[in-house]
Amino acid sequence: KSGFVAIIGRPNVGKSTFLNRVIGQKIAIMSDKPQTTRNKIQGIYTDDDAQIIFIDTPGVHKPKHKLGDFMMKVALNALREVDVILFMVNAEEGFGRGEAFIIERLKEVDTPVFLVINKIDRVHPDELLPLIEQYRGLYPFAEIVPISALEGNNVERLIEQIKQRL
Ligand code: GDP
Ligand code: MG
Repeated sequence: KSGFVAIIGRPNVGKSTFLNRVIGQKIAIMSDKPQTTRNKIQGIYTDDDAQIIFIDTPGVHKPKHKLGDFMMKVALNALREVDVILFMVNAEEGFGRGEAFIIERLKEVDTPVFLVINKIDRVHPDELLPLIEQYRGLYPFAEIVPISALEGNNVERLIEQIKQRL
């Protein structure tokens, strides 16, 4: 099996940390050059039965300048072409305007979206459940997966869930 996965989410939610953990420093292509319309391959995960190509789709966040509309179209087209979208949020911060904006854009694509709630090492489980319930009411996520990219909790399980969609 092989397929493409886009990781989206506001800055600092842990996208690079997740990729580094999944792919390993050796072959990860970690370009942080912002605001390009080109969809960069960020890294490739390979195991015995799957290859997952992670791509970066800049421009899905709230536009700050005039190129925003064009880049948004480019980004949405990229999201339509992948097998799975990982929408990563920070468990510590809860739902905000940045997340609301991204969810509105996700309504324009049919690709399965996994809500990845990262940094669960920083919150009590009692705080996590209301957040999950809130997100559940906002969008029909294909999966909701709480993880800690830093500590590795649930990361293997997330990879297995991605493989099921390839
Ligand atoms: P990106 O901007 O989405 O790529 O976010 P980064 O991967 O650069 O992470 C931003 C900050 O959050 C860094 O200081 C990371 O060490 C930290 N971070 C990422 N994942 C986790 C996590 O699971 N738990 C905790 N506590 N910190 C994390
Ligand atoms: Mg990053």
